[in-house]
Amino acid sequence: MIRYALLCEHGHDFEGWFGASSDYDDQHARGLLECPVCGSKVVRKAIMAPAVSGTKAQGPATGPAPSLSEPGAREMMMQAAQAVRQHVEQNFDYVGDAFAREARAIHEGKSEERGIYGEASGGEVKKLIEDGVRVAPLPPAPPRKREIN
Ligand SMILES: [Zn+2]
Repeated sequence: MIRYALLCEHGHDFEGWFGASSDYDDQHARGLLECPVCGSKVVRKAIMAPAVSGTKAQGPATGPAPSLSEPGAREMMMQAAQAVRQHVEQNFDYVGDAFAREARAIHEGKSEERGIYGEASGGEVKKLIEDGVRVAPLPPAPPRKREIN
């Protein structure tokens, strides 16, 4: 089974399990994928990107994760997320499905060191993290009207 992080047009993220990556393609092509939150069929794989530099990825995490239940916290998170996404889209190379391979090549010094983003399956991401390659999901894009249909 392959787990994909999926995203609907309204930015709801959820998980989908598939027997093979071709199953995802098949179900996606036939419009069988549906957002469990809003029912939208405009669904795609969430884009993965390396952790943005400047954050400390090494060392143990300290303290509990910040609570998202406080008033305004989620909105602030969303605004921060949009800023991160914009930064990535403007400064990073889009490599599409080659993301996992390229991220590994950069990590191993076999490819030019630069910021990249693209798509990867849950399994690919898990493997990268196990091998010490820093990747993080890119925050969802705000809904764009022209992407509908
Ligand atoms: Zn949705």
